[in-house]
Amino acid sequence: MVEQRTVAFNEDPVCGMTVDPDEGRARGLASTSQDRECLFCGKGCFLEFRDDPETFLATGFGARSWDPSCASDSSIGREGAYEAV
Ligand SMILES: [Zn+2]
Repeated sequence: MVEQRTVAFNEDPVCGMTVDPDEGRARGLASTSQDRECLFCGKGCFLEFRDDPETFLATGFGARSWDPSCASDSSIGREGAYEAV
């Protein structure tokens, strides 16, 4: 059994971005893993998580804001990130 870190219900576990749950579900960027729902800012994070959910939920994992596959960029902002998917 892998120990899991705490991820907010509206937090993208891959990049740490805050995601609007309704928007995420509407865009199909929600994944249920190990009895909890995870939401993602974009398809890149979504697919990465689906490949290996345990990695992103493990304690000690730090949100990878440097991940080039993730559209989150503080200079773009949330709206821009959604558009970039
Ligand atoms: Zn993300």
